[in-house]
Amino acid sequence: MAFDKNNDFSRKMYKGDWKCGKCGAAITELPFDPDPARIDQIMCRDCHRQRQESKRSY
Ligand SMILES: [Zn+2]
Repeated sequence: MAFDKNNDFSRKMYKGDWKCGKCGAAITELPFDPDPARIDQIMCRDCHRQRQESKRSY
């Protein structure tokens, strides 16, 4: 199984100059191409993870 090696494909990062809509931290890489209409809702990795965790604890 060569699955692990191929996995790198899905980890393509988009480079840019954004700002976290929650804590204001600078974001230079995103795992997805951000929608310009939602540029205010971009979250840094920390805020994103926190949201995921708070969702899960419900
Ligand atoms: Zn943040």
